[in-house]
Amino acid sequence: MKAFKTLGLLALALALTPATWALPKIKILATGGTIAGTQASPADAGYKPGTISVADLISSVPQLRNVAELSGEQVANIASQNMSHEIWLKLATRCNAVLADDDVDGVVITHGTDTMEETAYFLSLVVKSDKPIVLVGSMRPATAMGADGPINLYNAVALAAHPAAKGRGPLVLINDTIHYAREVQKTHTTRTDTFQSPNRGIAGIMNTGRVFFYSANTTRHTTRSEFSLYGLTVANLPRVEIVYSYVNFNGDTIDALVAKGVRGLVLAGVGDGNTSDAALAALARAAKAGVAVVRCSRTGSGIVDRNIEVNDDQLGFIAGLELSAPKARILLMLGLTQTNDLKKLQQYFSEY
Ligand code: GLU
Repeated sequence: MKAFKTLGLLALALALTPATWALPKIKILATGGTIAGTQASPADAGYKPGTISVADLISSVPQLRNVAELSGEQVANIASQNMSHEIWLKLATRCNAVLADDDVDGVVITHGTDTMEETAYFLSLVVKSDKPIVLVGSMRPATAMGADGPINLYNAVALAAHPAAKGRGPLVLINDTIHYAREVQKTHTTRTDTFQSPNRGIAGIMNTGRVFFYSANTTRHTTRSEFSLYGLTVANLPRVEIVYSYVNFNGDTIDALVAKGVRGLVLAGVGDGNTSDAALAALARAAKAGVAVVRCSRTGSGIVDRNIEVNDDQLGFIAGLELSAPKARILLMLGLTQTNDLKKLQQYFSEY
């Protein structure tokens, strides 16, 4: 009888023990976006991103409590078209600090989808941790019919809590799909399957919290990146701009940007990183004046290799290889904090 009583007390004690005692500890750093957006009515296509707080986001998905012990921090609450270098530096600094804490197993960053791929790539170059970092967004606001935010957030937390997510650099989780920061691109304005990894393919998939990786990330990132936040400020990040090529592009904007004092220019070229003879001549003038010129493609996929239709050796250009123009801008900015040497800059594009 006494033994039964003891067992009963033990069972009661276990039942009262918080369910989170052995769960991984995940920190959510919130920046805004549609995942934190609301509409006037569920049938309204118009809405305002970045209106829900991180605390409300967490409490809106009660199932998260079964996956991780969560804490949240509001780093910003913006639509991601307003993401800035200033917020990047703040976010990356918080990532480094939070991930250095033994009491944190991983980070989830909620983010607008418009520029999520750029933030993920920037973090992949300057955050120094092997712990999981997962960026997550949604295509439909929290109040929409068929909102995708709750399942995306659930999967993102499960992914950040999973040991297989370690050492891969920042991951983007959306629409049941895991992407590497370097590969991922938004490809459609509104559909929930907008994110693709067109060159090397997706990293893996998820099914309601279950994680399946398909491939390794073989490029340099985080702890193997030679870039860091050390000494970086908004003021000393080299100014790098993107110029977009199209029919009848005369290159006037290139000369204007050089006159403004840019340190680097990224061409979002037609096809294989090409542009008109007039624009090519303007880029050659820029390179001669000491501006670092990188050729990329506006097509959205493929490799812009050296010396195919354009003689990069002769003109002093860098080939953007697999990077999209917005990501090439980020790598060139960080690269120019280290060197002006064209060979070294080209090497960065092969490795990162
Ligand atoms: N333009 C907004 C943003 O990027 C909303 C788009 C979204 O989050 O899906 O934050």
